[in-house]
Amino acid sequence: MSNSDYVSHKLTTVLARISNVCEANLRRPDSVKLIGASKKQSIKLIQQFSDAGLLDLGENYLQEAIDKQCQLPDLPVSWHFIGQIQSNKTKLIAQHFDWVHGVDRLKIAKRLAAQHSRQSPINLLIQLNPDNEVSKGGVALSEAAELSQQIAEIDGAVLRGFMMIPKAREQQDQQRAVFAQARELLEHCNQHYGLNLDQLSMGMSGDLEAAIAEGSTMVRIGTDLFGARD
Ligand SMILES: *Cc1c(COP(=O)(O)O)cnc(C)c1O
Repeated sequence: MSNSDYVSHKLTTVLARISNVCEANLRRPDSVKLIGASKKQSIKLIQQFSDAGLLDLGENYLQEAIDKQCQLPDLPVSWHFIGQIQSNKTKLIAQHFDWVHGVDRLKIAKRLAAQHSRQSPINLLIQLNPDNEVSKGGVALSEAAELSQQIAEIDGAVLRGFMMIPKAREQQDQQRAVFAQARELLEHCNQHYGLNLDQLSMGMSGDLEAAIAEGSTMVRIGTDLFGARD
């Protein structure tokens, strides 16, 4: 297989997984966006995936992402920041990304809203920490509704929904139970606080099926798309 055949094959395989699980859950395949989690992947490979039709890229490390964007200035993709956010880096994040998935404090959301320079508001997702892991960012589920109401009021940003990175679980029903908490929280915020949240960023290589079954609208796939990271 040539390299570009290999890339098309990888992309097609992940898209087929997405559409199969959508079909099984009576969802439209285009209701789930595929984000290529491209940390540690080469410029060349990212370019090839873009050429093959990948439209969204997620990056975790700010400086690495900015370097990639400089080397690929005209790539027709939306950029998602999916890493942990340091408050002294919000200006660069706001300027270099269309979506920010890891918001977990009001102060961060306010800074991102004030510091971007685009016409349209910046898209924010609140990161949930369902397993209360210290090593991961995100808010406890019990605090998320209140934070959502506060962030939804900020001008210059639009709160779109929630993101989560649960601990790895073997069984699909265990995976689904965690993802269901994000879906229920989103429904609760829309029904009881009049919010218009429409995005759930959840599902990675090992649990995308469970995430989509529970309503994910954005899956972030690294390994199963690009291969192992060095
Ligand atoms: C690396 C990463 C992913 C992709 O993980 P894989 O298991 O390689 O698919 C998704 N989301 C976040 C936040 C990541 O850091």
